[in-house]
Amino acid sequence: MNLLIQNGTIITMQNKKIICEGAIAVEEETIVDVGKTRELKRKYGRGYEKIDAKGKVVIPGLINTHQHAAMSLLRGYADDLPLQEWLEKWIWPIEKHMTPHDIYIGALLTAIESIMGGTTTVNTMYHYTPKENEAKAFADASLRGVIGHVCFSWRKNEDGKALEDLAKNWHNKADGLIRVSVDPHAPYSVDPEYMKELKVTREELNDKYGSKKAPIICHIHAAETSDEMEKIRKAFNMQFKNGVMAYLDSLGVLDERLIAVHCVALTGKDMAIMNKRNVKVSHNPISNLKLASGISPVPKMLKKGITVSLGTDSPCSNNTADMFEIMKTTAIIHKGINKNPTVMPAEQVLEMATIEGAKALSWENEIGSIEVGKKADLSIISLKRPHLCPVYSEASHLVYAAKASDVETVIINGKIVMENRKLTMLNIEKVMDVVEKAKNNLLSKLNTNVK
Ligand SMILES: [Zn+2]
Repeated sequence: MNLLIQNGTIITMQNKKIICEGAIAVEEETIVDVGKTRELKRKYGRGYEKIDAKGKVVIPGLINTHQHAAMSLLRGYADDLPLQEWLEKWIWPIEKHMTPHDIYIGALLTAIESIMGGTTTVNTMYHYTPKENEAKAFADASLRGVIGHVCFSWRKNEDGKALEDLAKNWHNKADGLIRVSVDPHAPYSVDPEYMKELKVTREELNDKYGSKKAPIICHIHAAETSDEMEKIRKAFNMQFKNGVMAYLDSLGVLDERLIAVHCVALTGKDMAIMNKRNVKVSHNPISNLKLASGISPVPKMLKKGITVSLGTDSPCSNNTADMFEIMKTTAIIHKGINKNPTVMPAEQVLEMATIEGAKALSWENEIGSIEVGKKADLSIISLKRPHLCPVYSEASHLVYAAKASDVETVIINGKIVMENRKLTMLNIEKVMDVVEKAKNNLLSKLNTNVK
């Protein structure tokens, strides 16, 4: 399908270029032209479906660099608990009862929520199961994503099979919408030898199924809480100084295709190493606040030149997939804690949610900005709302005032997946019904009273 989006304000995220009265021409899945409406109208007339963006802004689709998409099934199941107790006493026991179909349906719900909030790419870490899984859910929803299989020391054989199957069946599949990743859960749940092995596995999978243009990356939680070093020492009976990232570097596993999530408890040495190895970061401020993990030193990392992107984390540690909430929280929390209103300006935060997100996933050759040759992943947001009026700065509105529900139309890989807030690919009511049923099944398996 060919599209001409016209009369809008285009926030390209390419060298801070903004085009008023702008237009974007899309052929199949690719952006072929970006410019003034009056010029593009002449060039792309017949055969192009028109989308009128008057009074609206067009941005590159938002990129959520940390999710556990299937966990929407557990949204609101356990709140207000410390991380370890939350994981060990609540989340892991109920997750044991989740079937592959539950994983699929949970990820489908997250895909819907993401699209409806203007997010076009999601980086997700979960358990891979062959027939029904997060990759299939994203492909069915036409959502772009990096799908990982989470690895733990206690199930090495199982992980090996899952990673091979995931990469073989899904890497660079579904018209290039789906890529995959190798996901060691965390430095305290993956022993040092296994951590090294998983890097070798990633290299082998890249040789078989990946390419320079479409690499298989590594996605890992790291330095989430200040006691993480102690947890590593205890778990593996080892001694080390410096920080968690310095520890990972001593194993030789850090590189430019690794995205480290949280990075709350970092030492100066950690940050120097991250910069040197070109490690990418996913900042998840709402999850970190909700679990009382602390606040990541994002302004310091940015100052050092480290790529920092934004993520929501799972629907039970946040509890939404709303990237607008994340942008606003990111912009204000670092001002507050640094007592400095000039840090994290709106434009920079918008970059973190788009082009920096693409870099964090090693996918900036195709997504993250509105440029000729890139994939057409676009979100159109209406500014004709009382809370977005008047308009001085679009970036300011997007970060400080807009809501996920202001997103009207979403295009992924050149396909309209939501038009005027109606999904074109999925029946929302049906998915929500199935999710409620799955929740009731899970609760009955746990022998808990069904609410
Ligand atoms: Zn997480």
